[in-house]
Amino acid sequence: MILNKLWRCSVCGYVHEGDQAPDKCPKCGAPKEKFIEIYEDDAKKIYNSDRTNDIHMKIINLADEMIELCKEGIEIDLDPGCVSTFEKAKDEGWVIKQRCKAELETHMKKGKW
Ligand SMILES: [Zn+2]
Repeated sequence: MILNKLWRCSVCGYVHEGDQAPDKCPKCGAPKEKFIEIYEDDAKKIYNSDRTNDIHMKIINLADEMIELCKEGIEIDLDPGCVSTFEKAKDEGWVIKQRCKAELETHMKKGKW
């Protein structure tokens, strides 16, 4: 994996990727001089947590889709076996979703974003 340089806005924490700091922070409008380069180890951590957080968010979306499918299956109500299978999967989808959300929250508190 090729890592680009990363720069953090010292005013708001926005992370910019590129050879140079941006002229102006896209989040808070702070000038270029307010950006501090993030060095290799920390940059690696940021790239890794960026990917990990994306994976968590994709899993949350998949769990949401699963819950919606289960609701549809429950409504169709083909037979009790189907309904009970969908009800269980719906509850499991909820658990998967909430577990990922809780994990994302701990990442944010630790600045792994
Ligand atoms: Zn900023």
